[in-house]
Amino acid sequence: MQANNGSFTSNGNGTTQDLRAMNGEMGNMSLANKRKKKPARAFHQQWETAVAPPSSTASTPFMPPNALFNGNSNGYGFDSNPPSNGFITPRMDSTSSFQSPAPSRVSSFQTTQLPGLPLFPPQHQPENAIVVPVSGGISLVPAPAPSSELSLVDYRYHTQATFMTPTSDNDPLYPSFYTFQNSIPPTAGTQYLTVDQGTASPNYIRSSMYFVPETESLRAATKLPIALTIRPFAPSQDPVPVVDFRDLGNISGSDPLDFGPPRCRRCRAYVNPSMTFTSVSNFTCNVCQFRGNTVPQEYTSYLDAQGNRADKFVKPELHQGVYDILVPDEYNVGGTGSTNDELHHIFLVDISEPSIRQGLPAVVADSIRTALFAEKEDLQEQTGEDNEPSKKTIKYSIICFDKHIHFYNLSPKLQQTQVNVCTDLDDPFVPFFDGLFADKEESRIQIEDALTNMEQMTNDPTFLPDTESCFAVAIKLASMCLESHGGGKITTLLAGLPSWGPGGLKFKPNNTSGKNADAEKYLFLPNLDYYKALGKELVAQSVGVDLFVVAKTQVDMANVGYLCGVTGGNINRWTNFEIERDARGFHEKFVTSVKNPRGYQGQLKVRCSNGLQVAQYYGTYSNKDIIGDVMDPKVSLLTEDQTFTVLFEYDGKLDTKYDCHFQVALLYTDALGARKVRVINLVLAVAEKLQDVFNMVDEDTVMTTILRDSLSFMGKQSLKEIRESLNNKLVEVYTQYRAMSELGHNITNTMNRTLLFPEGLKHLPIYALAFLKSDALRNGNGITPDTRLAEMFNLMHMPVERLLYNLYPAMVELHSLDDEECTFDDYGFLRLPRFTELSLSKMEQGVYILCDGYRVYVWVDPNANILLVKDLFGENYDSVLQLDPMMNELPVLPTLISEQSHNLIKFFHSKIIGIPGQDTGSSIQLVRPGIDGSEIIFKLRLVEDNISRSLATPSYGDYLTSLHKAIRVNLDSDKASGKIKQSIDNVGNNSESLTQRFALF
Ligand SMILES: [Zn+2]
Repeated sequence: MQANNGSFTSNGNGTTQDLRAMNGEMGNMSLANKRKKKPARAFHQQWETAVAPPSSTASTPFMPPNALFNGNSNGYGFDSNPPSNGFITPRMDSTSSFQSPAPSRVSSFQTTQLPGLPLFPPQHQPENAIVVPVSGGISLVPAPAPSSELSLVDYRYHTQATFMTPTSDNDPLYPSFYTFQNSIPPTAGTQYLTVDQGTASPNYIRSSMYFVPETESLRAATKLPIALTIRPFAPSQDPVPVVDFRDLGNISGSDPLDFGPPRCRRCRAYVNPSMTFTSVSNFTCNVCQFRGNTVPQEYTSYLDAQGNRADKFVKPELHQGVYDILVPDEYNVGGTGSTNDELHHIFLVDISEPSIRQGLPAVVADSIRTALFAEKEDLQEQTGEDNEPSKKTIKYSIICFDKHIHFYNLSPKLQQTQVNVCTDLDDPFVPFFDGLFADKEESRIQIEDALTNMEQMTNDPTFLPDTESCFAVAIKLASMCLESHGGGKITTLLAGLPSWGPGGLKFKPNNTSGKNADAEKYLFLPNLDYYKALGKELVAQSVGVDLFVVAKTQVDMANVGYLCGVTGGNINRWTNFEIERDARGFHEKFVTSVKNPRGYQGQLKVRCSNGLQVAQYYGTYSNKDIIGDVMDPKVSLLTEDQTFTVLFEYDGKLDTKYDCHFQVALLYTDALGARKVRVINLVLAVAEKLQDVFNMVDEDTVMTTILRDSLSFMGKQSLKEIRESLNNKLVEVYTQYRAMSELGHNITNTMNRTLLFPEGLKHLPIYALAFLKSDALRNGNGITPDTRLAEMFNLMHMPVERLLYNLYPAMVELHSLDDEECTFDDYGFLRLPRFTELSLSKMEQGVYILCDGYRVYVWVDPNANILLVKDLFGENYDSVLQLDPMMNELPVLPTLISEQSHNLIKFFHSKIIGIPGQDTGSSIQLVRPGIDGSEIIFKLRLVEDNISRSLATPSYGDYLTSLHKAIRVNLDSDKASGKIKQSIDNVGNNSESLTQRFALF
């Protein structure tokens, strides 16, 4: 079958096309015109011709001296014209270990798997057929190569190249993404410049469709969701403008509706660039078309000949897509006359035995010290220049817990910190208030003292820690501490199953997974009333929880993680923590958790044009699944990363005379206590034709929505059902598209026998397949519920680029980098090489850097060229075996490849993983196949391959084959019923033709 053809052998022959050469061709870009793998460099070829280098005995006398290999006599690297990178790629031949597996095994495997096309739907598969072994090697069955047109790495590469190609020879500027003129945004993760034309940049908001169907029946014919994914505090190239409307219209006796920011009287949309001023003081709302709106006297302006206000380009709210509005105190949580506190942040640290044993309190203490005292303060930047100068600063508190709760008094009046212990867990109370929260400068001595105390208890062999911890009560008490400040943030460490006291959890054996939905419900949903009530309280009090779990045992993530899930917090988790290797990664994430709050007391409201309404806010406490009805979500804590996905449904019909308008209004209190509304506007076109809808979809948002919708069913349906639904969803979408084309409704495509994907949805299958193989959904008892749930909670909130790189990681082949690649240009953009497909068959015996959105892995094959290894890790290594498995960073060396690697790792950390600070460094994890245990984790990221010959985790090629056949079967079976045909032909009939789970799309 797809077996063992030439695609498994390495391809060393191709034409070199560096970035600049590519750029010349981008005008007529075609994915078929794929960038070929680079040949070895000239120097390499010379060497190969002269003496075939031994692959693993690189220190033989035949090897030239370093100076020669580094291309100049000055030693390593930074010579302006180095002839080579300073290392040699080992010669690959067809007998390398990267060959395909033995043909007989492959074919026998495939014949058992493929004939009946069990994948769609996959009910023929034995549910527990595969278990990825926890230790030892895992076997990957390399993928038959899918068509290059479907290559995601090419797509990412070409999209990036488009935005890094100077506009013309005379104009060195890169093309920008114009938010009104251009429509479908570049794929998430692309570096590009934007021009805000009054509708928001895709960094802030992306829509699944850029032509919104006029009616539900038109939408239903696509089987695609109408959804927005919103990242209100996305990092942006320009600071977000702040508009002060606190005193606008503040005249006694005036209508309260005219007080504060100008808003539509009917739908309450905020003033925005698409509102039409009909006179100096009257405007028509773009969202609901209400005409009778007025602005206060002081906001009036004359209109120019085109009907635009004369001050349009002076006022950000009249010409920009995204802005912050400072609002009067009527908008405060406490209402008129109330004030808002600055953000209060509690460090809640587990000091029970599992924590002490792993050395964690000291690691946390060190991280807090760095976060508070070593990092530069950029609060002013975050909160906007218009913030009135105030003495307000974020306030911090440190609380520890084991079987009791230990409060550090950080009052600057004390000589040293004092510890008060709360022992009453049934009726807990806050023992003191003065000194509970502290300014980090005023109380620096006391904070340092408390941190030293935590370090001492970690290192004191005579200290006898409690064996258990009362995490739930500790969270409750921390939230009580925050109550009088209007909420805030808790960053907490948990080191084991919190079994003590009220809310104590019991170990849940993981022997029920996959058996039935009830068993999974028990594992995946919070089952303790204490936690359910606590989650509700945290949301009500605007308290957000970031969780760091460092535990070798299960901690019952269903209950514990729920607290993060509903409050918008992150879960960071280590199951095999080695302080030497992992402390650095922990440190980076902890410091980020301290630095990333952008505000709290959030309330999200999304308004849209008549005809649509919000159906679901995924992953928030407003979720229908959590509280039984859809309402505007309260968001305890707002961070740079936080992302919301909102699904829409029709309650009427869109008016094709107008555009379709969306306005996201996020009311929040910033970290220094200013009450603001972040307004994000999006204008989309309305479509009447199915073809237009299909041609203007954004697969990133479609995938994000399908993924979050699927995950919202965890615990309510079995994982097996969720996987089937996901497969069915894909089949549905492509069936509809294929039917549309076959029925002659798509004049832009000619028919052929190959799988026909809409241009904008070509990569949905690889993302969906990766999702099926993710820790959240992958079949097998080997995955603990904690692993599944931590992944699920994070996937619900993370930015789109992180999500997509988590599904399909970026893998960079270091040994074939051009000299220019992985260097920064004048815009600060990194010149990224073409990534390598995630298949073992595409990997050589070299060095790779992979980023999966959580971590960066450095894969070093034991047979990698030793000179590359020396250039990367240091002169003193003679073998890959000598590398320290606990290594957590690459050394800084004066070689080009070292610089390139550091640039790449820094890029991945800041753009994808979300660890922006340069000071915090860049952690990595070393992976040496056949040597390090991390090999298993790495190989699970090779999503184009079949994991462990599993039926449920096919290779990409097999998956496509199955998908293709399932679509065909659908269409053939429709000949009798004609339902699909009807849905396409007559968009008036809202037929349900396939297994339906996605109730709303
Ligand atoms: Zn309105």
